[in-house]
Amino acid sequence: MAHRTEAAADQLTLDPENWNELRELGHRMLDDIFLHLETLRDQPAWQPLPESVRQAIHEPLPMLPQGEEKTYGDFLQNVLPYTTGNRHPRAWGWVRGNGTPFAMLAEMLAAGINTHAAGGQQAATYIEEQVIAWFTQIMGMPVGSSGILTSGGTMANLLGLAVARQTKAGFDVREEGLQGEHPALTVYCSAEVHMWARKSVEFLGLGQKSLRQIPVDENFRIDLMELRKKIRNDRAGGLRPIALIATAGTVNTGAVDDLTTLAQICRDEDLWFHVDGAFGALLKLSPNYERLVAGIEQADSLAFDLHKWMYLSFEVGCLLVRDAEAHAATFAAQASYLETTTRGMLADGLSFADRGIELSRGFKALKVWMSLKAYGAALHGQIIEQNIEQAKHLASLVNRYAELELLSPRTMNIVCFRYRPHEVSSKEELNRLNREIVLRLQESGQFVVSGTVLKGDYAIRVANTNHRSRLEDFDALVEAVRDHGRKVVAENAVLQIAGTGNQPKG
Ligand SMILES: *Cc1c(COP(=O)(O)O)cnc(C)c1O
Repeated sequence: MAHRTEAAADQLTLDPENWNELRELGHRMLDDIFLHLETLRDQPAWQPLPESVRQAIHEPLPMLPQGEEKTYGDFLQNVLPYTTGNRHPRAWGWVRGNGTPFAMLAEMLAAGINTHAAGGQQAATYIEEQVIAWFTQIMGMPVGSSGILTSGGTMANLLGLAVARQTKAGFDVREEGLQGEHPALTVYCSAEVHMWARKSVEFLGLGQKSLRQIPVDENFRIDLMELRKKIRNDRAGGLRPIALIATAGTVNTGAVDDLTTLAQICRDEDLWFHVDGAFGALLKLSPNYERLVAGIEQADSLAFDLHKWMYLSFEVGCLLVRDAEAHAATFAAQASYLETTTRGMLADGLSFADRGIELSRGFKALKVWMSLKAYGAALHGQIIEQNIEQAKHLASLVNRYAELELLSPRTMNIVCFRYRPHEVSSKEELNRLNREIVLRLQESGQFVVSGTVLKGDYAIRVANTNHRSRLEDFDALVEAVRDHGRKVVAENAVLQIAGTGNQPKG
């Protein structure tokens, strides 16, 4: 590819000198990535990054141009093969969506127009408002609820908790901070809450001690008696309970707290009702399973991801807030250089800058809007149902084999199980054995699954938010687990595994 000529050097730009050459490269990139996506099944789900690749990436700051061609070659060689593999049909680790080819194209278009999506008079403002109105409808929240697209669930949840703090603290937190003489604020959730909650109370200055993690029942749902008792005791102790975080789909097992009862407790106790529905909230797209999250529509604030069970590419999450005024009252700010006008580009202000902490924002709404239009909400709901049927199938296979056992009830798309041959009985050995099976499944490139620890037992965990999986993939997984399990036991490797240093991660 041609480099910038001496003659052009006094008028510099990063646009190509030769548009046709870059256009040709762009078409090739598109062809390459489409071929890659079309043939995912022929490729390993994941493979470890070789030391040579790490070395190749570790290069001195390029002061001089290497050119687009060579740089793209480096991408093909050192980046494309070494990813987290979640786009693969046999990937069910953690909770990670696949992405879609069409959303990828939408991302490309969004980057191409590179609009600044803080608000103002432009299509992006109205597209994001429309997407939020659609999700307000999907979730059953009242027309006129406020909302914002975020980078993900953590950010959506954090913003929701910030609105709760501002609204329920009993004093103006924005003005006074948490420095004054006020009763300590407390927030309630179950012990199964995702780690965003701890990070968020720390970040919001409430401190870890403010987060009251209530034990769960045998189905991993928040214990309502314990919750009521804790709130009562805290009040009696001079603390000020402000919010309750319910989880609709816990990350460990997919458990859904009793949302309807929790909404009532929040009304009785004057608490903000925040729901973390990171993936579970999307069940509202499924006519057959939306009952599993009944009550979610009563949330004061509801956070969910679109890069998990809406299958969109990273990153995109969403926060909905029932009281639009409370939402704006938490974040809206004025600045002379962003003066709202009645005409021109800033007419009606920067609505999205006023609903979160970020000013410059990308056009995340475009991929959401284009995907919902292109495929329709109903198809997304059908694939969600397909994922649940697949998880049911997997659970029934686990039940079919004596050497496999479920470690938690399957409520939606998550199956936690382990390999338990009769010759291994100690908890410790079973944990080591199953941790080794997960590692071998990953390292073989066959499957991306992850693990978790439930009541001290290590579980192989399958979280199915995969629009590419087929029923047979789960048959193959069960075969592979039994295969690897038998081999590990036969090699008598379980005892040696003690030294791998792999600690359980929640
Ligand atoms: C994934 C997840 C989150 C965090 O969302 P990110 O998009 O990863 O930031 C929060 N809560 C639950 C239940 C989740 O599954």
